[in-house]
Amino acid sequence: MSRRGNTRRWLERHASDPYVRQAQTQGYRSRASFKLLEINRRDRLLQAGATVVDLGAAPGGWSQVAVEQVGPRGRVVAVDLLDMAPMPGVEFIQGDFNDQAVLARLLERLPQGADLVMSDMAPNLTGVRAIDQPAALHLAELALDLATRVLKPDGALLVKCFEGAGSQDLRALFAQRFERVLVRKPAASRDRSREHYLIGRGMLPTND
Ligand code: SAM
Repeated sequence: MSRRGNTRRWLERHASDPYVRQAQTQGYRSRASFKLLEINRRDRLLQAGATVVDLGAAPGGWSQVAVEQVGPRGRVVAVDLLDMAPMPGVEFIQGDFNDQAVLARLLERLPQGADLVMSDMAPNLTGVRAIDQPAALHLAELALDLATRVLKPDGALLVKCFEGAGSQDLRALFAQRFERVLVRKPAASRDRSREHYLIGRGMLPTND
């Protein structure tokens, strides 16, 4: 199919997607909010008063959910390559999370650590799995590294992953770092997508 054909099909699917319509009627910035809402209903990751890091936050659907749940005593620190419209209660850092300077700016804001690191980061997909899958795994590993540095002992990590080469290795890495590793595929995550989410709970001590 031509690129124009693909775009038309995407627009048709998007317009008829119930989660897109629900996001519009409920005032969420993206349909992704419903993924986090469902995961949170089951796993209770977001607590009142918590400090939350939202990696790959734009346009802000997850940050909105996080702000609602942590309330006025909590904090949400969000990062994205793209700009994000300001949101009350969210401290936003624009930049590439691969960049050490961006990581340093984020760490400066977390002197007390974080209760939840969540990453919905996804690379710009090329459609070539041999390029997209390693890029996605790399972003997931960056989130895991941050979690190792900032998570409080009873904190949690939630990361978007894609089933494919290396995804079992990523799960094994999670299992080395956390007491419990859970896999979630919320209803709003499209069936045909290889996307799913890994949750790590209870950080294990590291040797380094
Ligand atoms: N969770 C968001 C929401 O609820 O609205 C949607 C996130 S979208 C699926 C993935 C985001 O990851 C994009 O906005 C993209 O710019 C961001 N992203 C990808 N690579 C990144 C990187 N290296 N650093 C920061 N953000 C990145």
